[in-house]
Amino acid sequence: MVREDRLLVSELFYSIQGESTFAGLPCVFIRLAGCNLRCSYCDAAYSYEETGREVSVDSLLDFVDGYPGTLVELTGGEPLLQPGSLLLLDRLVGRHRTVLLETNGSQPIADLPADVRVILDVKCPDSGMAASWLPDNLTAIRRRAARRPNGSEVKFVISSLRDYRFARDFVLEHDLTAHAPVLFSPVRGRISPAELAAAVLADRLPVRLQLQLHTLIWPEQTRGV
Ligand code: SF4
Repeated sequence: MVREDRLLVSELFYSIQGESTFAGLPCVFIRLAGCNLRCSYCDAAYSYEETGREVSVDSLLDFVDGYPGTLVELTGGEPLLQPGSLLLLDRLVGRHRTVLLETNGSQPIADLPADVRVILDVKCPDSGMAASWLPDNLTAIRRRAARRPNGSEVKFVISSLRDYRFARDFVLEHDLTAHAPVLFSPVRGRISPAELAAAVLADRLPVRLQLQLHTLIWPEQTRGV
């Protein structure tokens, strides 16, 4: 059992933020090990196939301190599976860093610090993991929006037009764009950006089409970007 002031880490790196409304900015990444899901398109399977190494919260803060003022992202795997994530997020916010947290939608976000920008996945049918969505997170998104504009972003990773229709209907049914920026991200090799763009435009959907910038800059690199 890992103590709460230590985390199992898959990798630490400094790169360009590839997704979210922060895309394009330099960013320090802390990728934690372990995930409870097995998405069909996962490009970070090593984060759960390998055990990861135990690193103290203090050491992680030392690493982040090497990049003063830079955006910081906690990602995975699924970072909220590890109780030490909350301590790390609190300490990062306490250092006045802009902090992003990527989470897969299956874990509760209600207790996360208001100053953390939560990037929450809603898994679509072709991921094979759509049943993992935690409905209470919808309430949490609304509460976060009431406390702080853009406290969350909601991301749909889309493999097909079937996924697109699922995402569109979810956004409209829950009036999601009133509470958070909504990101639609095409899976490389499954649906083209042009096909997804055409669908978004045809429906006049106020969502942000995003391409994974890091995969365009470093198409051959699978880690550390
Ligand atoms: S939630 Fe993320 S890390 Fe986990 S299997 Fe899905 S894509 Fe991979």
